Amino acid sequence: LVELRGVCKWYDDFSALHDIDLTVHEGEKVVVCGPSGSGKSTMIRCINQLEAHQLGTILVDGVEVSPDMKNIERIRREVGMVFQSFNLFPHMTILENLTLGPIRNRGASRAEARDLAMHYLNRVHIAEQADKYPTQLSGGQQQRVAIARSLCMKPKVMLFDEPTSALDPEMIAGVLDVMIELAEEGMTMIVVTHEMGFARKVADRVVFMDQGEIIEVAGPEAFFNAPQSDRAQLFLSQLL
Ligand code: ATP
Ligand code: MG
Repeated sequence: LVELRGVCKWYDDFSALHDIDLTVHEGEKVVVCGPSGSGKSTMIRCINQLEAHQLGTILVDGVEVSPDMKNIERIRREVGMVFQSFNLFPHMTILENLTLGPIRNRGASRAEARDLAMHYLNRVHIAEQADKYPTQLSGGQQQRVAIARSLCMKPKVMLFDEPTSALDPEMIAGVLDVMIELAEEGMTMIVVTHEMGFARKVADRVVFMDQGEIIEVAGPEAFFNAPQSDRAQLFLSQLL
């Protein structure tokens, strides 16, 4: 469903991604980890063209990702993304935040968009907050709204970039639970996270990056119990 082949990206003469090859099949869950600055965010931002890569090919559902506007619109309809910061529109209610995309970009009627929004708010266990404004919600609740907002666009794949790292510890479990439910329903997911409990439970594969390269790809048990590379061993020893 998502395929990166020989993807390279530079910021001026700094190589942020070097020769990245990764294929993620439909329904697969891939956790990406690695030290700060290793290129995790850059890689997933290239998949929906928040960043443009300079070499190599990225395919989403068979369509090559390119920086032209028509293509970007199409890719963003299929690829949902949730960030560390929730990026909700502060002047809109939760419900309005969720109905905006389907009305503008999917041609949904107001009533359809509302039904869809309530469906996904229920799924992230937050339907009772629909008429509040983002600042009236906790960080964990806002992040669940951000997930529901992405789901309203019916994406084929969901990208997460450290979705829990800005949250207070007591808020993290609620967000991870929603992500685990999403995984169990069969969503294709690429998740940058250092939540190793989540990775062990959900990941089909763990991708370890360092200095813009994929160093190691393994099942979660193999990766956490017996990482092959020195760099992965060092990284894991520093996490504990
Ligand atoms: P973190 O765990 O801190 O989020 P990361 O693995 O997500 O790190 P990236 O954000 O992908 O790392 O950054 C990879 C490298 O690219 C870093 O060295 C960073 O300084 C550099 N970089 C990222 N964005 C830019 C930019 N807009 N201009 C120049 N360099 C950048
Ligand atoms: Mg990052």
